[in-house]
Formats: sequence, structure tokens, C-alpha cells
Amino acid sequence: MRATLMFGPGEVRVEDRPEPRILQPTDAIVRVVRACVCGSDLHPYHSIPVSTTGQAMGHELIGVVEQVGADVRTLTKGDFVISPFAFSDNTCPICRDGFQTACLHGGFVGGAQAELTRIGQADGTLVKAPATDDEATLASYLTLADVYLTGYHAAFMAKVAPGMSVTVIGDGAVGLSAVLAASRMGAEQIILMGHHQARTDLGREFGATDVVAERGDEGVAKVRELTGGLGTHAVLEAVGHMPAYHQAYGVVRSGGVISRVGVPQYDEAPVGFGSLFGRNITLTGGPAPVRAYLEDALADVLAGRINPGRVFDRTVSLEDAPEAYRLMDSRQALKVMLKP
Ligand SMILES: [Zn+2]
Repeated sequence: MRATLMFGPGEVRVEDRPEPRILQPTDAIVRVVRACVCGSDLHPYHSIPVSTTGQAMGHELIGVVEQVGADVRTLTKGDFVISPFAFSDNTCPICRDGFQTACLHGGFVGGAQAELTRIGQADGTLVKAPATDDEATLASYLTLADVYLTGYHAAFMAKVAPGMSVTVIGDGAVGLSAVLAASRMGAEQIILMGHHQARTDLGREFGATDVVAERGDEGVAKVRELTGGLGTHAVLEAVGHMPAYHQAYGVVRSGGVISRVGVPQYDEAPVGFGSLFGRNITLTGGPAPVRAYLEDALADVLAGRINPGRVFDRTVSLEDAPEAYRLMDSRQALKVMLKP
């Protein structure tokens, strides 16, 4: 089968690889219908150590079940499924708490940018969806594997509710998804901090009431100006770099919440009197347990209440995966779908 591998910084190739096999009786093999490149794939794209064997890439996919292990009970060959980017049994105490990305028997999906991939804990992980040929529906399905529900998780952890004010930092696909989720939860004011106009325009369609293109202190001042000097109740941080964290505590209202879903590219950050403590700021967020939210979001997609698939602005064949990485890395594309 064809699979996307990364051999070093900027070195992505599509090559022949052995087909995945069932290793555990709880596994399933899924034939990938659509996959995509994630903003988080760009971190290794810059810094992965050089290797001759290559790293199998991709963690977002929708597809059709090809084969199931002996212990899989709820899935059969031919089922159309959405796969969260983390696999989980969905039954352990942590999963029951709604944090499937920390499942006691789970882990992260790899090798989704390929024709076939193996998914662990298939019963707990894979969610069946009505099969379709409609490209817009496929795109929205694919966002439920990661990007829309990662944005949703940011809003969920910040307890966004009707009447609240929200700042979203980052106009990538996750930030725009966070805007859509906050809007769906009834936020009254949604300030999107981003400076790519095509992206912030989509953000406005997703529900942003204001756009702030300025960054750093200037951006913070602008958000404060838009909120009577108070800042917003919630800040959804979808970038992961230190300047975004500084902006987050700069724009959060006293007593408010900073919810991070951009993978932090730092280990140390201010939490003292001048940043969080002095104004009773809550810091939360982490890898999104998309499995916890997937059925409800699928119902919203199928009913036409949300259309998160609009974040995809390019589709290329799996063979063109190297080009997909280049387009995303150069910011020429917001999010690129791969079609095996
Ligand atoms: Zn679990």
C-alpha cells in the first residue's frame, strides 16, 4: 500500500509499505477514504530527526472498516467510520470521566496518511457514520477526527455559555473551529485574533463578532478596548507558542479562564501574581478527547447545524502529500485534505 513517511525536516515521501495487520484482537484495519495534514504535523516537519526508515505520518482519518480482530463486537467489514486521533477503550475510569486522550489502555493514532491503517481499541474508538459521497459531508466528518472537536474542547474546558465574551487566539483551522464552537455554545462576543484575512473572513462566518489583526501588546490593547478595558471571560488559545500565552493572560478578564489546545512548544511559563494568580485566572486545556464529543457533533453535522468542513480549502491525492505539507507550511493553504 501507499503511505506517507517523513525522513527528516521537510523530507516527506509517499512510498510502498507493507499493509497493516491485526496485532491485537481489539484492533481494526480501516481503508482510508480521506485523511489530512494537521497543524501539529508541521512541528516534526521542522524538527524531526533525520532517519532512513521514515516516520509514518497522519492521525486524522475517516474510512471503511476492512477487517476486525476476534474481540471486536460492534463493527463489521464495510462500516463507514470516523476515527478520533487518539484510540481509547471508552470504558476505563478516565474515559468515563470524558478524557479519552488519557485512556488507561489507549494511545495516539499514527499512519493515517496512507491507504490502510490499523486502529487499536476499535470498539471504543471508531464511531459509525452514514456512508456518503457528498464532499462537504466528508469534509465535516473529517473535522470530527480532530480539528473541529479540538476547537470545541477549548470552549468546553472554558465552560463557554450564553452571554459570555470569548477571545480566540489563532486563525488556523483549530482557532476557527473554536470560534464555531463558542458561537454554538451561545457566546455573545467572540474576538478572533488573527491576521490572515481569508481565514478571519471565514471566522466571521463561523460567528466571530470582532477581528483583531494586531499581535503582542498592541493586540492585547485592542482586545481590552473592545471589552471596556476588562478583557474576555474566556480565552481559547489555539497556537501553542509563548507569545500566544502572553497574549492569553493579557486579554483574559479577572476571574476568567485560559483554555489551551495549541500544543505548548514550551515547558515553563508565567503563573505568578502578575500573570494568573493576582487576578484569579484559571488555566486549563490539553489534548482534546474528541471521542467524548463525537456523537453529538455528528448529529449537528447531519442536521446541518454546523458545517466545520469549510476549514478545508484544498484537496490533493495521497501521492501529493509532500505538496500538501508544503502548502500548509507556507500558509498557502489553511487545511489540506488527502484523497487516497
Ligand atoms: Zn479508557
